[in-house]
Amino acid sequence: MEIIILVLVLWYVGLFFQTFFLHRYAAHQTFTMSNFAEKTCFILTWIFQGSSYLSAYGYGVMHRMHHAYADTEKDPHSPKYDKNAFAMMWRTKNTYQQINKKRIAVEEQFTVNVPQWEAFDAFASSIVSRLFWAILYITFFYFFADVWWQWLFLPVIFLMAPIHGMIINWFAHVYGSVNFKVNDTSKNLFPFDFLMMGEGYHNNHHKHSTRANFGGVKTIDIDPTYMIMKVLHALKIIHIKDTNTTVKSDF
Ligand SMILES: [Zn+2]
Ligand SMILES: [Zn+2]
Repeated sequence: MEIIILVLVLWYVGLFFQTFFLHRYAAHQTFTMSNFAEKTCFILTWIFQGSSYLSAYGYGVMHRMHHAYADTEKDPHSPKYDKNAFAMMWRTKNTYQQINKKRIAVEEQFTVNVPQWEAFDAFASSIVSRLFWAILYITFFYFFADVWWQWLFLPVIFLMAPIHGMIINWFAHVYGSVNFKVNDTSKNLFPFDFLMMGEGYHNNHHKHSTRANFGGVKTIDIDPTYMIMKVLHALKIIHIKDTNTTVKSDF
């Protein structure tokens, strides 16, 4: 039971910091927050992504390139240009590392205002940090796994952030429904996103990439992350730039 709880907590809370901090804040700047709140997000992202920590800078810059070049040859990840999801993720990992280590020149439009905490990112992305989390997970499994199949979740935990990335960057560009005609292959994975904290409304998001709310097109497409953001906004922890939540679909 403890293993299932751990997997669910890391899945949903890790995903929350990916979509809330890396995606909606670092890449799209849909809200503002204090320097203290920003630093807190860096630390919480490290805690909940653990062994698969992604830096706001690497993620934010690469993701802006995805929107600018979606499904063209310059897209850092697209099902149109990779033969399968694993090939795409390997290419994505390499591009992410090149950006993160500043080994490739990147246009200013992709880097402007993307938050970076260089010392912390270097530590949180280090092999020491990744091994620390891996040993912690293995120790937890050693004490709490009651049946053999629970160990199958261990590699999922090690690679949680890339798995989240693959679900959206591959599957939400291949399978699902479309609310808006756009110039790329983005889809909404589910009518109600129970799995991806709102990231599953990917077609809505490609159409309105600066909107804080990824849902709100139909009555059922409720975005859990946006609900939490509204609470943080009411508590004045963040300030959402665009609180207009309803958008009509093209159809
Ligand atoms: Zn996309
Ligand atoms: Zn985006």
